[in-house]
Amino acid sequence: MMQVMTRPKKRLFLALLLASLVVAALSTYGLWKVSAPGLSSISQHLPLLLGALLLLVLAVGALSVMGVILALLGLPTFGIFKGVAWTVINILFPLATFLGRLLDVNKERVERSFIEVSNQLIRQKHVKVKPEQLLILTPHCIQLDTCPHKITRDIANCKDCGGCQVGDLLRLSQKYGVHVAIVTGGTLARKVIKTLRPRAVLAIACERDLTSGIQDVFPLPVIGVLNERPYGPCCNTKVQMSAVEQAVLQFIDTNGRKA
Ligand code: SF4
Repeated sequence: MMQVMTRPKKRLFLALLLASLVVAALSTYGLWKVSAPGLSSISQHLPLLLGALLLLVLAVGALSVMGVILALLGLPTFGIFKGVAWTVINILFPLATFLGRLLDVNKERVERSFIEVSNQLIRQKHVKVKPEQLLILTPHCIQLDTCPHKITRDIANCKDCGGCQVGDLLRLSQKYGVHVAIVTGGTLARKVIKTLRPRAVLAIACERDLTSGIQDVFPLPVIGVLNERPYGPCCNTKVQMSAVEQAVLQFIDTNGRKA
């Protein structure tokens, strides 16, 4: 069955992010209210001290979310907010998805929105790495399911027969000198990252794998490119190669290298 991919909306995740902040503020107040009587029996200053500390944490959280919004709108903001914006969305992501579930928002929509927000924040950080420090990671469902070649062991085993896009990825990696790995799951992906120690990752996957992957390797910068599933999940998946090449060019420092 052909999958229709709707354009991700950053504002969905931003709305959930703001709602998460409100929930965090209310929970913090509840925590303070419950613990204040016990603390005042130890010292009358303790509730005030704890209140001030929690207020400070909340203020930092609120300013950081503000930083995310300003950064996404391309409006001028203090450098420190830009720096923490990406950290904040990764920390608040689990709460935002939980709220999305409570409000009956389609999980894939929330994940697509998160990926879009994360990608934009990464782009705004202008991360530049040497080609050999960039790793393209993709699940093995991109390989033609009838292909007999063991490309998860070594992508160079691909014969570039045109049956699937593994050959395209191989040529792209040779053109720019970047690493590419085809993995069978999260464990192997983590192993490849541990071995190659990339400074940046370009991940191609579905919504669920991309969001969990971005969270897993945080704070390693990741640009996520969603795959296409014309034959349903995890079977003969495709990717827009122009989007992959564009993301490679955003990450690598091409000075002095023929592209
Ligand atoms: S392009 Fe490579 S991986 Fe894909 S079917 Fe051909 S040989 Fe197999």
